[in-house]
Amino acid sequence: MKLHTLGFPRIGAKRELKLALEDYWQGNINKTQFLQTTADIRQKNWSAQQQAGIELLPVGDFANYDHVLSTSLYLGIIPERFAHDNSDPLDLEFRIARGRAPTGCACAASDMTKWFNTNYHYIVPELSQDMDIQVDIQPLLTQIDEARQSGHEAKPVILGPLSYLYLSAFEGDKLQLLPQLLAGYQQIFDKLNQARVSWLQIDEPILGLELDENWQAAFRQAYGELRQGSLKLLLTSYFASVDHHLDLIASLPLHGVHLDCVAEPTDIQLAIDLLPRHWVVSLGVIDGRNIWKTDLSALYEKLEPVYAQLNGRTWLAPSCSLLHCPVDLEQENTLDPQVKGWLAFASQKCHELSLLKDALLSGDTAAIEQYSAPVKARLTSREAVNKSLRDRLDNLKQVERSEPYPVRKQQQQALGLPLLPTTTIGSFPQTAEIRQIRAAYKRRESTLEQYTRAMQQQIQDCISRQEEIGLDVLVHGEPERNDMVEYFAEFLDGVTSTRFGWVQSYGSRCVKPPVIYGDVRRTRAMTTDWLSYAQSLTDKPVKGMLTGPVTILCWSFVRDDLSRDQVARQIALAVSDEVEDLIRSGIKIIQIDEPAIREGMPIKQSQWQEYLNWAVASFRLASARAPAPVQIHSHMCYSEFNDILDAIIALDADVLTVETSRSNMVLLDAFKHKAYPNDIGPGVYDIHSPNVPDSGWITNLLKKALEVVPAERLWINPDCGLKTRGWEETRASLENMIDAARQLRKEL
Ligand code: GLN
Ligand code: ZN
Repeated sequence: MKLHTLGFPRIGAKRELKLALEDYWQGNINKTQFLQTTADIRQKNWSAQQQAGIELLPVGDFANYDHVLSTSLYLGIIPERFAHDNSDPLDLEFRIARGRAPTGCACAASDMTKWFNTNYHYIVPELSQDMDIQVDIQPLLTQIDEARQSGHEAKPVILGPLSYLYLSAFEGDKLQLLPQLLAGYQQIFDKLNQARVSWLQIDEPILGLELDENWQAAFRQAYGELRQGSLKLLLTSYFASVDHHLDLIASLPLHGVHLDCVAEPTDIQLAIDLLPRHWVVSLGVIDGRNIWKTDLSALYEKLEPVYAQLNGRTWLAPSCSLLHCPVDLEQENTLDPQVKGWLAFASQKCHELSLLKDALLSGDTAAIEQYSAPVKARLTSREAVNKSLRDRLDNLKQVERSEPYPVRKQQQQALGLPLLPTTTIGSFPQTAEIRQIRAAYKRRESTLEQYTRAMQQQIQDCISRQEEIGLDVLVHGEPERNDMVEYFAEFLDGVTSTRFGWVQSYGSRCVKPPVIYGDVRRTRAMTTDWLSYAQSLTDKPVKGMLTGPVTILCWSFVRDDLSRDQVARQIALAVSDEVEDLIRSGIKIIQIDEPAIREGMPIKQSQWQEYLNWAVASFRLASARAPAPVQIHSHMCYSEFNDILDAIIALDADVLTVETSRSNMVLLDAFKHKAYPNDIGPGVYDIHSPNVPDSGWITNLLKKALEVVPAERLWINPDCGLKTRGWEETRASLENMIDAARQLRKEL
């Protein structure tokens, strides 16, 4: 029996990668120093895993920016606009990812998109018919050497050809490019053979999807054609069960397969029966995407008969790469000890595997029983079930708004808004000063009074700037929020925050998801003080900002002993209590942000509808208690929602603001076939860039929008929140936006 992992977090226990990236981009360290930091992180990762008992160590799971981008670079697949860029290869890598780097020209970055249903983003490969594949896996070979020199048994990891192709951008039939791509992969295989690699982990996560016939045939063709030499292929999939593709997998010339046994119920016995008798079966039994300590004794019961059948062909691993998990729980020195006892981060998960292995080999379960005791304690703890909350949820009467949109629209005339109202998405620039005020308070260098006063000044400043700019619906600017989920988590019972529980989101960006460990309850008002203060400063309506239940759920580590829809319902109730308090304190417009609805979609399309049903229901519950004259907004920031149009309509927000400017309003084409029935604000400029859009350009976009949306239902706003921008470009952009609105109102 062998223990392995599919990958380890790259950011480093102290976010060393993030800091090194930012230092390098700012010119504070040079390339050698940057590369040294990355080598150190890899060494630390390998030794942490080895010390915890992992035998076969992943190599190539590390990436300077993103592993899909690394794969593109191995293959020499570089977007045409960078083809003649002969700056340093590391800078080229960063420029493809971010559009800029210390050296070389500036071209538009490649697109970035969500990695399956996680909050990790990958750089989308840009393929073309005449792409010139030039294989160079020297960075991977160097890492294999590094690992070997430290005495580790290395198992290189690469993203497989079919998943790579599937995740790429190409206008046309992608499968047509398969032969070219396979020629590239063949060269990679040859080079790994030369390097005397034994096991190669080849990731094909798309096997979790319901692939059509063509893609299934492509799997047979690709793996049939690739000459493996003496490489032994371990095919991995994750984030979903592959029970539906077992026949296909069994027909491929492999040496082993890894199954995610956590994401969905997986029929291990079926796999044993269907897969060739000589294959290694790697069982992903420890949840690689969550932070709970595993009930090893329960797992032992399940695995013992399997191990007896598979014997030496059993490998054990986390379900997926540990990329999606924080690094080391040991650092958490301020966490409630009881809660800490329930958790396991990446290093601890490796240790779990070795405890499990010891028990399976020896039959002695004392150690795993002792280890698993806190897991059982969590499930029966006082926090797990709050009786009064459950009763309240069981007896809810108001689960959606009482009046239909047309009635609400009529009553909201009282808000006195002009035609084509202008607004923003919520946050305004988070200046160094704002961050400083928050940090000082957190470090207890300022009192609550000082902090409140300082924040109020920021809000006051933000309100007066918006009035000067001439916006119609104002916001308080969200200066008090470090993060739109963590801010709310801190007010909720059953939820806690960690200090170092960082997970890579993309490149140098990390997120620190809160931990939902028990029934979620709101203990006190979360936003009313700031909002009513903001409203007291102006006659214009100030829009209250809340994060929606699905987004809080998706961006947290969620308890595994209650279904996600039930957790979402609990959060929705907490949000609805806040809605009521905001209304009571005089707020007439409330935005409930749901940017994560789309990423929460299950991997398998057959499960989408069920998910969307409860996701929509939780949003409707959150907004249910707003009477007709109160206007509910929602915001989501992604540009493809064709496939969830009905759900977006079903949210029944009075006003929906969405990202569209990058797609030139083509998003709205979706509504040519099915009109969006309520008010909508398609974002008119991209907040991700510091460029200031001119008003003519905005007017043109709005004219496009008016082809699909009647003027009485059209809003004017940027694509997303402005917190990452500076004031200078924000003011200039918004002024141009207001000019465009005024111009258009005259023409209508
Ligand atoms: N209200 C949030 C903001 O403006 C929305 C952020 C988001 O959509 N991700 O920052
Ligand atoms: Zn957004």
